[in-house]
Amino acid sequence: MSEALLVIDYSYDFAAPDGRLTAGIPAREIEEELVQKIKSASDANKPVFFMMDLHQEGDPHHPESALFPPHNIAGTRGRELYGRVKRIYEEIKDLGHVFFIDKTRYSAFAGTNLDQLLRERNIDTVVLTGLVTDICILHTAVDAYNKGYKIKVPASCVASFNPEGHTFALEHFKNSLGATVER
Ligand code: ZN
Repeated sequence: MSEALLVIDYSYDFAAPDGRLTAGIPAREIEEELVQKIKSASDANKPVFFMMDLHQEGDPHHPESALFPPHNIAGTRGRELYGRVKRIYEEIKDLGHVFFIDKTRYSAFAGTNLDQLLRERNIDTVVLTGLVTDICILHTAVDAYNKGYKIKVPASCVASFNPEGHTFALEHFKNSLGATVER
């Protein structure tokens, strides 16, 4: 079994106190665990994929424009990695097993070459971390399931601005997608 770590949308806009679509305190409560998870995966030479939401300012064609305030706009601080996750990324980014990939939909698989990169490396298990549990993590998990990957979700490394949604998604990962949800 070969694993890759996905770190999804841990951006300034999603995690900082004044981020434009912040998940608030829960986002920052996972910061330390997430850093440790990234460090141990990278130290073990496992592929680490930083998957980052990308939007253009005032894009009238993007479906999220009608649903959410503007966030993760190209070229702004808002779509940079946040806090200590940014620092660990800076330390490891030049290693051959570390990737930073733009995404434009909730799922890390939608419109990206993630699936190809995983298959080239014989990865059969994705470890999903980051933000937010019941939107981008959930949509990525559903796509991973449909593509035949095994899924692990460390519960201490995902968070949401919606506590009910967070709880629902963790149950869904386990009960409907067969994921291993580690506490
Ligand atoms: Zn978005």
